[in-house]
Amino acid sequence: MSLDSSGTLFIVAAPSGAGKSTLVNALLEREPGISLSISHTTRPPRPGEEYGRHYYFVERAEFEREVAEGVFLEHAEVHGNFYGTSRNTVQDLLQQGRDVLLEIDWQGAAQIRKAKSDCVSVFILPPSRAELERRLRGRGSDSAEVIERRLRNSRGEIAHAHEFDYIIVNDRFEDALDGLRAIVQAVRQRSGLQCQRHADLIRELLAEG
Ligand code: 5GP
Repeated sequence: MSLDSSGTLFIVAAPSGAGKSTLVNALLEREPGISLSISHTTRPPRPGEEYGRHYYFVERAEFEREVAEGVFLEHAEVHGNFYGTSRNTVQDLLQQGRDVLLEIDWQGAAQIRKAKSDCVSVFILPPSRAELERRLRGRGSDSAEVIERRLRNSRGEIAHAHEFDYIIVNDRFEDALDGLRAIVQAVRQRSGLQCQRHADLIRELLAEG
């Protein structure tokens, strides 16, 4: 399957509690043209989460069947649950020329880099360990056990930060958001994409006489 397109595939990863989803939601509000890919997961919904808006919540057996059928562009086990990105959804959006954003973990990011080497990946770091813990506990929607597990796993995620194209420290929210928007805007002006988009302009400017 080809993932050739004029849209860019962005990956955003972070340890749980770094503020990734809040940043991504603000980015999507301010940068039209980016679509968020809704993942499939075997994790139970948190209070307020909706099927098809936050995730496609599926049973383990259904997820396994989808893996076998090749539904996923990438999939991974994270914090004891399974998560996967739908190949068709991403492909359709990219082919429409939309930029697509995947909020996935480092394992998924590694798989995507293999399938689409021109993807752009961003890792979000919390400003300190204490702040990560404070944000994770402050969320109020996870049990103590889930929080402890996510805190334990955060080191494993952060150890892969160097594999990403960009790293943003989410200390002041507005600064982190500016950083994320700057990355998206810079990627959109890359010469390879601009030469495709503005082929007519460049031809006209180069024409003699
Ligand atoms: P949460 O359960 O807090 O929504 O997500 C837990 C972790 O799973 C986060 O690091 C999130 O980025 C990651 N995740 C969410 N969807 C996907 C996916 O489709 N694929 C992969 N590999 N990770 C995902």
